[in-house]
Amino acid sequence: MANKTYIVEHLDDELGPWSELEYVTIAKESHAAGANFCLSSVPSTLVLPAALKHVPGFTADEHSVETLYAEDKTRVCLLDPAATKELSPEDGDLFDVFLFGGILGDDPPRGMWIIVNRTSELRKKGFQGRRLGPKQMTTDTAVRVTRLIVQERIPLDKIPYVDYPELRINKNESTEMPFRYVKGEDGECIMPEGMLDLVKKDSEKGFGDLF
Ligand code: SAH
Repeated sequence: MANKTYIVEHLDDELGPWSELEYVTIAKESHAAGANFCLSSVPSTLVLPAALKHVPGFTADEHSVETLYAEDKTRVCLLDPAATKELSPEDGDLFDVFLFGGILGDDPPRGMWIIVNRTSELRKKGFQGRRLGPKQMTTDTAVRVTRLIVQERIPLDKIPYVDYPELRINKNESTEMPFRYVKGEDGECIMPEGMLDLVKKDSEKGFGDLF
C-alpha cells in the first residue's frame, strides 16, 4: 500500500494559534513516520504561519478533499465521531488517506455535538467513516491515534489514554482539558510543544472561566 496521507480539511475561516500548534505537531509526526500531511480547503487569502509552512512534508491545498479525491473516494477514510465502526489496524490495508475535520482555532472547545455536526459536512461527501471511540480528541490526538492504529497496528483499545487532564496554570489554578489524549512514556498526556504555555496565556485572558 502507498504511504499514508493524513488530511485535515480546514473548516474555519481563520487559523488560530491553537490550530497552528496542532498542525505543526501533526506535520512533524507524520513526516517522522514516513507519511504526508496535507491541509486542504485552505482559502487563498489565509496566510499560513511560517512555523507550519516550513515543516518538511507539509502541503497546503486550496481545494477540498472532495475535489482532490473525486476519482478515488474509496481510498479515503473519514474519522468521524458519529461513525458506527471503530478504526482497526486492518483499515490500514483498505485506506491510504485519512481525513479529519479541522475545527476551531483557539476558541474554547464547543462540545461533542458540534464536532459531530461539523464533521458531518465531510460525511455528506460520501466518504466511509470510522470512529476512534466515544470521547472527543483534539485534532493532533485523533491523527496520532489513527497513525498508531493503521501504521503501528496497535488496536484502538490497547493505546494508553489520559482523559480530561488537569493542567496546572499556576499554584492556585488549574484547568481541565475536555478531551482524550494519548499517554506518553512519562505518564503525561502528549500535547503539542507550546500548548501548555498557550493554555496558560489564554486562561489569563479569562479563557478558563468559559469552561
Ligand atoms: N479541537 C476541537 C476538536 C477537534 S475534533 C475542539 O477544540 O473542540 C477534530 C477532528 O478529529 C474531528 O473532525 C474528527 O475527524 C476527529 N476526531 C476527534 N475525536 C474523534 C473520535 N472520537 N472519533 C473519530 N474522530 C474523531
